Amino acid sequence: MESIIITGGTRGIGKAITLRLLKEGLKVYALYGNRHADAQDLQKQANSQNLEIISLDVTNQKKISQFFKKISLEKDEVIALVNNAGIFYFPEKKNEEEVFKTNVLGTWYMTNAFADYRKDKKLTTVGAVINSGSIAGIHGPTRSEIYAASKSALHRMAEVQAGKYAKEKLLHINTISYGPVETDLLQSIYAPDKIKNFAEQTPTGRLTQLEEVADLVYYLIKNRNFNLVGTNIVFDGGKILSS
Ligand code: NDP
Repeated sequence: MESIIITGGTRGIGKAITLRLLKEGLKVYALYGNRHADAQDLQKQANSQNLEIISLDVTNQKKISQFFKKISLEKDEVIALVNNAGIFYFPEKKNEEEVFKTNVLGTWYMTNAFADYRKDKKLTTVGAVINSGSIAGIHGPTRSEIYAASKSALHRMAEVQAGKYAKEKLLHINTISYGPVETDLLQSIYAPDKIKNFAEQTPTGRLTQLEEVADLVYYLIKNRNFNLVGTNIVFDGGKILSS
């Protein structure tokens, strides 16, 4: 059986991707941080034996290595990793280091561990990695320079990793830079009228929908053999053009 791993797979963008991939018949390992109630809700909603939900902090290298050791013993083949876990910077939390650890290093640890998994299993096809980037890391105003810098770092790291792992015929790594998508994260940063403004400022007049995100991610997984490596797909209805 083919399976995928998604970090931050229990809420928001990740949850939409998890549900879509299950519908396509893939097994999904959905990883999350500590919001167990949301994870349980997803388990109930999905009601699928193909869904394994695991609390795994992507900044914890030891736990990541234990996780990959465990899944390497399973019969299924993990064909893709979606590095979607990400957090925002809030001054009152003083969480600047956590933002970099989660958004940048977490992605780096997971991708390297996934490459090792495929190498150790001697898999001969190429695996896909899809990172959740952000237009905040590319251009325009944003509420936090720390978050913006972390996403810029993620984009550049992914490009360099993409070249390396494509050469080794192990992984095709690409990033999707989202504009605003209505999730807990967006709602924790901006008031409803500001979110409405985002939609109005976007050339298409609307925000990207979760279903569209899930469609694109599935397309990239399905077509992981395409000669698409190290790209950064801006998925924002043209918002970046108007900021
Ligand atoms: P949410 O806050 O809705 O969900 C975040 C998910 O990531 C949760 O499942 C959370 O788990 C998990 N997570 C957070 N930290 C860790 C960690 N250390 N280890 C494992 N899992 C973790 O976010 P969104 O769905 O809005 O965003 C998803 C991604 O898309 C992020 O990378 C974000 O930066 C990016 N993005 C989002 C945009 C938006 O407008 N929504 C715009 C641009 C980019 P738990 O439930 O346990 O907290």
